[in-house]
Amino acid sequence: MILPFTLRINTCSILSAPSNCVLITFKSGSPRTVSDSRSKTTCVHFHRQRIYTEPALHLDGQPIPVNGEAKFLGVVFDSKLNFSSHVKYLKKKCLKALNLLRVVGHTDWGADRATLLKLYRTLVRSKLDYGSVIYGSAKKHVLRALDPIHHQGLCIALGAFRTSPIKSLYAEAGEPSLEHRRMKLAFNYVLKLKSLPRNPCHEVVFEAPLSDFSAVTKDWDAEGANKLHEVLPNLGEDLHRRGEGAGRKLETAMCRLRVGHTWLTQSYLLKNEDQPFCYACDSLYTVQHILIECPDFQDTRKKYFSITDLYRLFREVDLSRIVGYLKDLGVYGKI
Ligand SMILES: [Zn+2]
Repeated sequence: MILPFTLRINTCSILSAPSNCVLITFKSGSPRTVSDSRSKTTCVHFHRQRIYTEPALHLDGQPIPVNGEAKFLGVVFDSKLNFSSHVKYLKKKCLKALNLLRVVGHTDWGADRATLLKLYRTLVRSKLDYGSVIYGSAKKHVLRALDPIHHQGLCIALGAFRTSPIKSLYAEAGEPSLEHRRMKLAFNYVLKLKSLPRNPCHEVVFEAPLSDFSAVTKDWDAEGANKLHEVLPNLGEDLHRRGEGAGRKLETAMCRLRVGHTWLTQSYLLKNEDQPFCYACDSLYTVQHILIECPDFQDTRKKYFSITDLYRLFREVDLSRIVGYLKDLGVYGKI
């Protein structure tokens, strides 16, 4: 009887099995009869050997086909357990969901940042989260293929400029990297499992050492040269809340100014040109230079604020005054 054998196998025992473990899946739904099972059943042989014999399993006298991979509860298991097929499948699914986000994420008239982030988390991140405890064991270069999805999603939701540093996107959105997200979910799973000593996965999981989860903060602390780090040295501060309800255009403009990457200052990267210099004082043309430093804009600046660093500017000055200053200079539309 094959059914009890199938039920006995769980994902943890598969992952911890050194070789020669077999996963048998039913393609859709539970079979009602044995003949029903036969057409819906596939077998995947997990092994790392070069010379091997495929298992000869039979159901009702008929051989069960052995495949290189099979989808089981939404996760594609391949015979080497490297999960590259699952990552490809996941990427395709998420790219479709990202298109929906693009439709409503226009930087002038699109939905607001909070709604877009919620949409991103619901439509895309949930897909990346599902099964991450299982496929997270894949090699780093395989998992890295999913990072652009995460970055694109955040970029669309924040309305950030395309050249924005990835770490700045994380800090702005209050989102960890996918690697840290997978780590967090794994921790959640471990904590839940800790309370269930009779769970078959309990023994397998607690053999592995736990990593330090303060990694996210440490990672950001090491980003001293990042432009956003000066504005947001401590993660978790909701600076973006100051622009809430003021319209999509202002939200995206403020996000780009905080990150330090705007069309005005960084589009040279996309056009493959040299970095622009300020026509008035011959300094590098950066967000900090426009907002704080340029002596030529001093008189205009004084009309709106007299702050000398970006940290205080984004905390103490009313956002409408920053916008007013930029409009006065005639550059607000190019943010
Ligand atoms: Zn200047």
